[in-house]
Amino acid sequence: MNNIKVPYINLISQNSIIKKKLLESVGKVISHGGYILGPEVKSFEKEFSDYCGTKYAIGVDNGTSALILVLKALSIGHGDEVITVPNSFLASASCIALIGAKPVFVDIQDDYNINPNLIEKAITSKTKAIIPVHLTGHPAEMNAILNIAKKHNLHVIEDCAQAVGAAYYEKRVGGFGIAGCFSLHPLKNLNAIGDGGVIVTNDTQLYEKLLKARNHGLINRDECEFWSINSRLDTIQAAMLLVKMKYLDKWIKKRRGNAEFYKKRISKYVKVPKDKDYEFSVYHTFVVQAENREELMKYLLDKGIETKIHYPIPIHLQQASNNLGYKIGDFPQCDNQVKKILSLPVYPELTIEQIELVADSIKSFYEQKTF
Ligand SMILES: *Cc1c(COP(=O)(O)O)cnc(C)c1O
Repeated sequence: MNNIKVPYINLISQNSIIKKKLLESVGKVISHGGYILGPEVKSFEKEFSDYCGTKYAIGVDNGTSALILVLKALSIGHGDEVITVPNSFLASASCIALIGAKPVFVDIQDDYNINPNLIEKAITSKTKAIIPVHLTGHPAEMNAILNIAKKHNLHVIEDCAQAVGAAYYEKRVGGFGIAGCFSLHPLKNLNAIGDGGVIVTNDTQLYEKLLKARNHGLINRDECEFWSINSRLDTIQAAMLLVKMKYLDKWIKKRRGNAEFYKKRISKYVKVPKDKDYEFSVYHTFVVQAENREELMKYLLDKGIETKIHYPIPIHLQQASNNLGYKIGDFPQCDNQVKKILSLPVYPELTIEQIELVADSIKSFYEQKTF
């Protein structure tokens, strides 16, 4: 299609606005030469941990590594089980399998996040941790999750990849569990010009271990304490992120404004997300549940509007999950939602004309159609 009026994402538009500042920052890095773990990495970590209200932040190469490094640092591995959700991006579960443990899925609730009432049934003597995902940028029910974790002596590792800036009872996500893992991929709300990730924690021991773990297990230039990989955040990406941190709250405000606009205009036609008064969502995605979704998607595309499905194949039904033995019907809420979910464009740079076109087109689809 080349007559797209509302692309689902538009990475260039955001970066064009701040291109001059980004290029200035790249220039500084090129000139100072600290390309690996240079001063910008430290500055970004400081700003990011302040933003999340945690003691520490550790810049890493991407969000998947962030999860893997935390699981490994907590000595979770072969023979262990870790609980997460089936309706997330693959990495929420692949990180568990990749360290040799077994992903155990728990069904979700209306807000697309883990249903705390179903967690205890999934806990066994092998369970070591819970990875709640703040999917769509909506905080998971952390009080209930933390209570269960405490009772069963489990770690809570927050998958915050979609939720930078989201808050629960006025506390930003990332600092509720032992660690919070963020992706800074170009599609995420705070994004690098390429891959990036960051871990936050209040735990000094874990922090010190992660600093080594992202850098070959090195204690200093020559001495290695344990085998590990190279998962460092690039200095250039940290420099980009420092520029963008200044705009983050403004961008989140715009996303929330766009979400409000949709809610006012289309809640008659599709099921829109709801926030409780103690939840602050950042709308990484704006996911509605729509009857006749496939037809709606096609109708919108004919009008020049791109939409997506996050995610069309739940993780437990992927080929990669075959050995875990799950099947359709194991997670009824997830099965039900996957047929209806549709993500509408919600990025900060949408124009009023664009967002009106999306809302009006959804209205006309449901008002003109007789099913
Ligand atoms: C994007 C994402 C990840 C992985 O982050 P990468 O930086 O792409 O490795 C993990 N979990 C969720 C929920 C994500 O959306």
